[in-house]
Amino acid sequence: MKKHIQICAVLLCVLLCTACGDNTAAPQTTDAVTTAEHTQATDETTIAVPDVTSEPTDAQSEVTTTEATTEATTKATTALNVLQYTPLGEKEIKNRMTQAKKDGTLCVVIDPGHGLVDPGAVHDENLGDVTESDITLAIANKLAAVLEDRGYTVVLTHDGETKPYTEYDDGKAVYGPSERCGFSNAQDAHLFISLHCDAYPQSADVSGTRIYYPVDTPNSTKYDKEIASACKKALEKAFPDAKKVSLMDMHGEDCYTVIYKTVVPSILVECGFITNKDDAAKLLDETWQQSFADALANGVDTFFN
Ligand SMILES: [Zn+2]
Repeated sequence: MKKHIQICAVLLCVLLCTACGDNTAAPQTTDAVTTAEHTQATDETTIAVPDVTSEPTDAQSEVTTTEATTEATTKATTALNVLQYTPLGEKEIKNRMTQAKKDGTLCVVIDPGHGLVDPGAVHDENLGDVTESDITLAIANKLAAVLEDRGYTVVLTHDGETKPYTEYDDGKAVYGPSERCGFSNAQDAHLFISLHCDAYPQSADVSGTRIYYPVDTPNSTKYDKEIASACKKALEKAFPDAKKVSLMDMHGEDCYTVIYKTVVPSILVECGFITNKDDAAKLLDETWQQSFADALANGVDTFFN
């Protein structure tokens, strides 16, 4: 069952993908959000109270009052609590996966990068009015549908219209990368996949899919690389004529927040570069999106089996 969640708040609207920012590997994009996230990621194995001052906040966002909001508030409270997470460790992750496979309760959290007033990367020339968040949500929904068909429980971190939010004591409503992790950690999940699109305005020639995974972080285990590798192979099999998929290991504090703080095996998939004409055309194409989602689902199957 897909749980669509209500939340409100926002990342800074930046030109470039906030998650696609600053690893040391080639094309680099930087922005304030990423810097703030990295500052925050330095000491967070256990967090008593998240440092919201370093989190992107959204002063303009409004919380719609609906029934779903009530439910979301409850969820958000849970999400806040589980920011005080404890790493699971390899053995426990394995035991949980083994048990869930036996029980038929394997659960995947899919995080459509950005959303609502945060469009993520935009590039008018190649995408028109479409934004990174439109694309990540479209692929996320397709991936969710495929995985559900295959018997997985799927949870989206947001549905593009509503999302959980965390209201801190100072009244700030926040749904940044940390909250997405907190929300994810509150689910009885076994895998976390964040979907994004890359942008590299400095060179329109840069293209391709990149899969990031954490190394040497409090939560990282061998399973992060395993799911990344399984998805890489599945994508290359599905798109044999495309450029090879790049595996990007992110070490320690340099790791993107969404894959640094999630306790289950986690990857961040940069599906393609919106600043590259060919990639952008694919990203906009529903048939390609479906094939991409199907391939990721094959990677997930391989990983769990
Ligand atoms: Zn992004």
